[in-house]
Amino acid sequence: MNQKIRDMRDCLLRLSAIGAAEGGGLTRLLYSPSWREAQDCLCAMFEEIGLTANFDQVGNLFGRIEGREKPEETVLTGSHVDTVRNGGTLDGQYGILAGWLAVGRLLAKHGRPKRSMEVVSFAEEEGSRFPYAFWGSKSLVGLADREALRQARDAEGHLFSEAMEQAGFDFEAVRPAPRKDIKAFVEAHIEQGGVLENLNQQIGVVTDIAGQKRYTATLTGEANHAGTTPMSMRHDAMEGAARCMVTLLDEAGKQGDPLVLTFGKVEVLPNIVNVVPGRVIFTVDCRHTDQKALDAFARTIESAIGQCAADLGLTAEIDCWMNEPPVPMNRELIERITRVCRERGLKTHVMHSGAGHDSQILARHYPTAMFFVPSIKGISHNPAEETRIEDLVAGVDALEAILYDLAYSNSQLKSN
Ligand SMILES: [Zn+2]
Repeated sequence: MNQKIRDMRDCLLRLSAIGAAEGGGLTRLLYSPSWREAQDCLCAMFEEIGLTANFDQVGNLFGRIEGREKPEETVLTGSHVDTVRNGGTLDGQYGILAGWLAVGRLLAKHGRPKRSMEVVSFAEEEGSRFPYAFWGSKSLVGLADREALRQARDAEGHLFSEAMEQAGFDFEAVRPAPRKDIKAFVEAHIEQGGVLENLNQQIGVVTDIAGQKRYTATLTGEANHAGTTPMSMRHDAMEGAARCMVTLLDEAGKQGDPLVLTFGKVEVLPNIVNVVPGRVIFTVDCRHTDQKALDAFARTIESAIGQCAADLGLTAEIDCWMNEPPVPMNRELIERITRVCRERGLKTHVMHSGAGHDSQILARHYPTAMFFVPSIKGISHNPAEETRIEDLVAGVDALEAILYDLAYSNSQLKSN
């Protein structure tokens, strides 16, 4: 077996053993014992390849090698160490391990870089233990909102601050301390979708991370007898919801990529077989990479819900509770990454990300880019999450080439 494949497989098995569930799958929630164990394992791995390992105040772990010529300029790579409950073994930790492997190879081949290089294992990204996502990357840029978490509890009732203390970090000591030395951040991640596999590509260079709007819509009509109420006399909230959904899904289909629209959660009241539904509460998740297009579709959503309700004599309430703008990646880095990958002979596709990632937090502060490796059948947040080992290795090759270009060359790194 080829050495690169062996190295990839070995480090993946080593880290995936921590937090592994018996029937497969990985659960490594923020500040849990398995989280701490994984960070300690990475700490040792960083030191094995000659990096200096350090935790910051929230438990982000950094492995650093000081640059020879421009130590004050840091090229950063990595991703998050936490997982969703019963997640796979690649989401997040692949980006850390790819960074570890790529930096290890570079140090072995070329010695110390001109600029400083760091691999980061972000404490948290998924929001799967406490109702707060991107705690790790937000902390790096000085945006972690401690007060928003003061009363936060996990599903077992543990306070955030207690969980943090158990993992060895002091909640009260957290102060916004944005890093100023980062000249580039590159995140490797699995695609978690099926585009690359479909197109038979190895690397997906991300142009933008889609913006998202999420709504809860409530349609209220009149619950009534399913047998004695003629169709013409009903105020059926379910019919209203169904009409909204069909209208909007048709419209979304007409608009096509990169717009996506999902009605993921529906609650019907009273939810009884022989009662005309009096109320339906449903969620809407809408994403697009272009702010204007996202805003325009948001107006379509609002007017369609209003219209369908009015047609049936229902009342409609619409609550928009998430409104995240699209985040473009750094254009210069996109070009450099695409060029470097193609020079290496990697089949490289340029695409957007429909999912959120740490890169969207860092991109507002530092030149940031990310790239994907294919996900088999597009499956993620699931123990069946998988990527061909050759594609995982191709991602490490890509990252090695990118980090070489950024940290070992004389080229200027422009600020964002
Ligand atoms: Zn992730």
